Amino acid sequence: MDYKAHIKIIDNYPKEGIQFKDITPLLQNGPAYKKAIDEMTEYVKSKDVDIVVGPEARGFVVGCPIAYSLEKSFVPVRKTGKLPREVVTEDYGLEYGKDTLAIHADSIKEGDRVIITDDLLATGGTIEATIKLVEKLGGVVVGCAFLIELQYIDSRAKIKDYDVFSLIRYS
Ligand code: 5GP
Repeated sequence: MDYKAHIKIIDNYPKEGIQFKDITPLLQNGPAYKKAIDEMTEYVKSKDVDIVVGPEARGFVVGCPIAYSLEKSFVPVRKTGKLPREVVTEDYGLEYGKDTLAIHADSIKEGDRVIITDDLLATGGTIEATIKLVEKLGGVVVGCAFLIELQYIDSRAKIKDYDVFSLIRYS
């Protein structure tokens, strides 16, 4: 599958100098979206997981269908102020900006095997913060799965201790 044919590259969005990878054309193509999710699901299945964790909002777009098809739990990670019950939080830096992520404090138990999914790996700030949230709750991060990896940004050093899968790569 030529996935890149379904990704649009937008220059200088959302800021000057950023080449934004727009995944919405892929989502709008049913067979391409399904094939991409199926390939990511194969990776997740091989890791024998209990929980799929995804940061908002595009982490839901890939993580939810994977969790659904494997009959596993899905746990959302959100910006602060969006989750209604007790949370743990972690500050993080983005490719463009800074923010704080939160997870429900009771969503993961000690020893749960967790896969983290997101649409795209850029600087690694989001995945690093999400890993910390999972580990604060006692979860074991057995892998991270991305639709897209930007290999021209050095992010792998931040997550060198973790198994990483990516379907589409830009170098
Ligand atoms: P990182 O934290 O690795 O620098 O950035 C990854 C996060 O920012 C992901 O949650 C992703 O949704 C968002 N992101 C950053 N750049 C892009 C981009 O070019 N395209 C898309 N679709 N998301 C991006």
